[in-house]
Amino acid sequence: MLRLENVHAHYGKIRALNGVGLEVEEGRIATLIGANGAGKSTTLKTIVGWTRANQGSISLNGEDITRLATHKIVARGVALVPEGREVFGDMTVMENLEMGAFLRRDAAAVKQDAVRVFELFPILAERRRQKAKSLSGGEQQMLAISRALMTDPKLMLLDEPSLGLAPKLVKAIFDTLREINRQGVTLFLVEQNALMALKLAQRGHVLVKGAITACNDSQVLLSDESIRRTYLGLD
Ligand code: ATP
Repeated sequence: MLRLENVHAHYGKIRALNGVGLEVEEGRIATLIGANGAGKSTTLKTIVGWTRANQGSISLNGEDITRLATHKIVARGVALVPEGREVFGDMTVMENLEMGAFLRRDAAAVKQDAVRVFELFPILAERRRQKAKSLSGGEQQMLAISRALMTDPKLMLLDEPSLGLAPKLVKAIFDTLREINRQGVTLFLVEQNALMALKLAQRGHVLVKGAITACNDSQVLLSDESIRRTYLGLD
C-alpha cells in the first residue's frame, strides 16, 4: 500500500533521513521504532508532504505521491495524527471533528463517521460541546485520532500516540487502534514505547540515524536479543 524507497530528507545541513526504505501492507498494522532523534517523526512528515524528500520516492497503491501537496495526499486517504496531538484548543470537540471532514463533500457519510467516532470514543460524545483545550491529555489524543478518522482515511499515520499518557489509558487507546484497524484502516505507528507498539503491530521497522536497520514480523523483533536490550529495556 505504502512504499518508501531510498528517502532522504534534510533540515538545512541536518540529515534527518538517509535513505529510508520500507513498505506497509494494506490492512495491517506496522510500526516504526527508534531512539530520540532517529527520524521517526520526519518519516511521517515526509510521507504527508509536510517535509519534502530531497531524494527517493514515496508511493501509495503504486502511484507516486512524493511531490504531491499535502491536501492531495489526504484526499487519497492518508491521515496523520501528529505528535503532541495539536487539536484546535479554542474549538469544541464537534468543531474539531468537522475540521477533519473539511475536504469531504459526502455529508451523509460524514455524519455516519461522526457516529462511528463516538462509538469508538464515547467520552467524546459526552464532551462534544466542550472546548478541546479543556480535555485531558488522553481525551485530546482520542480527539486527534478521531479528527484523522473524519478524513475517511485508508491509511492512518500516528506519531507517538502514547506520549505522556498513563499506562491504562495507553492500553485503552491501543485497543481502540486495533478496532480501527479491524474496521479496515491500515495503521503505521511511530512509537518510543517499542514494547507496546510491537505487541500491537504485525510488522516492525527499526530506524537508526535516518535509515532502517531491521524490519521483520513483530514477534521476531520482540524476541531479538539486541532489540530487547536496546529498545525494550529487557534482557
Ligand atoms: P523523537 O522521538 O525525539 O521525536 P524522532 O525519531 O521523531 O525523535 P525527528 O523528530 O524526526 O526524530 O528528528 C530527526 C532529526 O532531525 C533530529 O536530529 C532532529 O533534531 C532534526 N530535526 C527535526 N525537525 C527539525 C527541524 N524542524 N529543523 C531542524 N532539525 C530538525
